[in-house]
Amino acid sequence: MAAQKFVYSFHEGDGKNKQLLGGKGANLCEMTQIGLNVPPGFVISTEACLAYISDPEHQLPAGVMDRVREQIAQLEQATGKRFGGGDNPLLVSVRSGSAISMPGMMDTILNLGLNSDTLHGLIKQSGNERFGYDSYRRFIQLFGKVALGVADEHFDEHFEEVKRRAGVAVDIGLKAEDLKEISERFLTVVQQQTGKPFPTDPYEQLEIAIKAVFNSWMGRRAVDYRREFHITPEMANGTAVNVVTMVFGNLGNDSATGVGFTRNPGTGENLMFGEYLVNAQGEDVVAGIRTPKPILELEKEMPRLYRELVELRDKLESHYHEIQDFEFTIEKGVLYCLQTRNGKMNAQAMVRASVEMVREGLVDRDQALLRINPTMLEQLLFPRLDPNYKREPITAGIGASPGAASGLIVFDADTAERRGKLGEKVILVREETKPEDIHGFFAAQGILTSRGGKTSHAAVVARGMGKPCVVGADGIHVDSRARSALVGDKVLHEGDVITIDGGSGALYLGAVPTVEPEFSDELATLLGWADEVAKLKVMANADTPVDARRAVKYGAMGIGLCRTERMFNAQERLPIVVEMILADSVEERQQALDKLLPIQRSDFKEMLTALAPRPMTVRLLDPPIHEFLPTEQRLQDELASLHQLRGSVHGVESLVATLKVLHPEQNAGLDDRLGILGDTHLVEEAIGRTEAMLKKARTLREVNPMLGHRGVRLGITYPEIYRMQLRALCEAAAECIKEGIDVHPEVMVPNVCTKRELEIVKGYLDEIKPEVEKRYGVTIPLKYGTMMEVVRACLRAGHMAENAAFFSFGTNDLTQATFSFSREDAENKFLPLYNEKKILDHNPFEVLDVKGVGRLMWIAVDWGRKSRPDLKVGVCGEQAGHPESIRFCHHIDLNYVSCSAPRVPVARLAAAHAKLREAEYDW
Ligand code: PEP
Ligand code: MG
Repeated sequence: MAAQKFVYSFHEGDGKNKQLLGGKGANLCEMTQIGLNVPPGFVISTEACLAYISDPEHQLPAGVMDRVREQIAQLEQATGKRFGGGDNPLLVSVRSGSAISMPGMMDTILNLGLNSDTLHGLIKQSGNERFGYDSYRRFIQLFGKVALGVADEHFDEHFEEVKRRAGVAVDIGLKAEDLKEISERFLTVVQQQTGKPFPTDPYEQLEIAIKAVFNSWMGRRAVDYRREFHITPEMANGTAVNVVTMVFGNLGNDSATGVGFTRNPGTGENLMFGEYLVNAQGEDVVAGIRTPKPILELEKEMPRLYRELVELRDKLESHYHEIQDFEFTIEKGVLYCLQTRNGKMNAQAMVRASVEMVREGLVDRDQALLRINPTMLEQLLFPRLDPNYKREPITAGIGASPGAASGLIVFDADTAERRGKLGEKVILVREETKPEDIHGFFAAQGILTSRGGKTSHAAVVARGMGKPCVVGADGIHVDSRARSALVGDKVLHEGDVITIDGGSGALYLGAVPTVEPEFSDELATLLGWADEVAKLKVMANADTPVDARRAVKYGAMGIGLCRTERMFNAQERLPIVVEMILADSVEERQQALDKLLPIQRSDFKEMLTALAPRPMTVRLLDPPIHEFLPTEQRLQDELASLHQLRGSVHGVESLVATLKVLHPEQNAGLDDRLGILGDTHLVEEAIGRTEAMLKKARTLREVNPMLGHRGVRLGITYPEIYRMQLRALCEAAAECIKEGIDVHPEVMVPNVCTKRELEIVKGYLDEIKPEVEKRYGVTIPLKYGTMMEVVRACLRAGHMAENAAFFSFGTNDLTQATFSFSREDAENKFLPLYNEKKILDHNPFEVLDVKGVGRLMWIAVDWGRKSRPDLKVGVCGEQAGHPESIRFCHHIDLNYVSCSAPRVPVARLAAAHAKLREAEYDW
């Protein structure tokens, strides 16, 4: 049997096989094969990584190093250099790269192959002693840290000491002899810290480095990142190692290094974007150690190379049909492309670029839709600073990831994580960030750094996460040790509140008010395309006229759930609702309902008008009515205070009586002056009312209210409540129709479990609707349907459909009922542990459980449509806004999903994805 192939040259690797070669490796192969000037190299596959990790001896698979030697021989041939050669040495970089890009999460080693011999070769080759020692000291530190586990601080100490002694502020000011001394000190550091001399044999270095990169796949940073972004082994399993000939951007003023985006990742504008540094190595740009120049300046500084760079950019986009994030190096006037990958951009930029790429003919509409992850669109709904806010920022940096965020300053990632877990909003403030800060990013509302550019670590990671970020705010002096930062003469301490604006880069003291974002024209265009493709309609859950208008703004095709009880919660309405609940007789209850009728009618009318001609589904009262009363505990406390107050009021009353007897003339007007303070009736009345409420609350108390006297059960025990609601809806619709407004009201009944319940409520409607129609002289096109949120209702779907023109799955209750998990308690009691232990993959209250709840829905749709073929079916639980759940809803042929208004854009795009990717779906 032929031995497994683990090593591939860039000329032979399959550029599409990212699982095997990692994204970076596959791309290097592809780039080489399409004729880009890539430095020669080869890839060691992810399969080698998995074999290495699972080997108890931690050995590379047999034969790998032999293949590596063969490949190195080929690099030697291609470059005319020799690995370990004293005259014209070949140096290589060793980089990680898995199938899914994980920026900065794993390790990279540069300048591998350097030792005291090759160093002199490099110096001779470049004619630049300073460059030789600079490369050497960088290599020792990086290799020492990544491959040998020596912490940076051991090196930094020496580096700073030599810098101080040499009297230079920036690294570039160090001379060759300083760097030589640093290199020597670094070699000693390695010897001291590891107990062994620094390895000098280039092949030994290479083997150690390959193993270190493989090990970094299981390092904490990478593991945390994969967990946070739900990167499963099916998506990326193991890292590949890319061994690439080093090219140098620091060989003098005809050399440079930089990173580019084929379009602006902040705005999506079709203009090359990026940064470069002359006479520097790539890590200077990424780490934000020196502030780079905008790429457009290269046009003046190196016009020929700028033109070549523009050509490279055009080639990349026309080949990949996607925005690319690429790294380049210019070595003595020759441009090399070191890597390229799909650019991580914020949602705004993704949307703009998608629309423009369609217009440029680079991609078609379907591709434009598919390139955007629906969840990303939520970013577009991020708040921004209130434009009417007039205070000046205290300083500004570079806006690197849009959105505004306020929070308490924290100076390190651990504190961010700790305080974040306590529910505090924090802004992570650092001089610069490193990959090990990743847990701080997750916990923070936003990130602020005093150094670095738009491609620094902080900027790239925050953009990927969609968190507001400001970088390069050099007006701030951050002192992490003292846990303070200086801006001018103002000292900021840990815990002070600041606001950052990731768009403009501004920093403000305190919490600045924010406003809702607006829809861009590009987003409207893109979502318009999505609507054309999608089969599912996207409705919104909206309960008030304000919500209804917002839903329309976000492109909802109607309201799929109006929870009418939320209309009762407004401050001036609640007392009427309480009056209704406290009523001892039907007549008394009717009096309160008569007051609610015009309020509800006017809300419905306003909503129907805002939505016209879209449909609006009104759900009749659902929650147990005790929810409108204060809790028993609160009522008891209130009663206790009222009794105390009664004592005081009686005291005042007898004081007044005494004063009047003692000095009748002086105290004649005392009653008037004391006002209500002297009025015992008011206190007595308040006590009476509170006692009545307490009594009612006790009567209504249930052990399991969510399984209790709620939904249609209320509508059957108190028919007058549902009748009032039905009348309000019919009258609102009739008024609209009379005004020429095209309305499509629908009404549905919650928590139904039998067909008979539906018939009873339908009976109310059959009395009210004709009466209203007659009075107004109109015909109301009202649809009558049911919520499906009880297991029995699903199992009797065929019968339910006889009395319902539509079904709306209430997957919040249906999930509760299917799992027997309390929707009130499960999420903060045992569900996190269930996810951790992989008992469940997701929180089923967030992502629809397709295997259980979904199966029930599927059965119900099937049986329902058998009895009523034109049955309309939708879903209105929280899961309806989740892309995975939407895929399933498409698959079982629902007509619509209804989610909260801010999720509507996400759902519209997800519905289009569901259609475009339906052939791949498998549940
Ligand atoms: C549901 O149960 O899914 C639903 C939409 O209703 P509510 O959340 O109001 O119970
Ligand atoms: Mg419900």
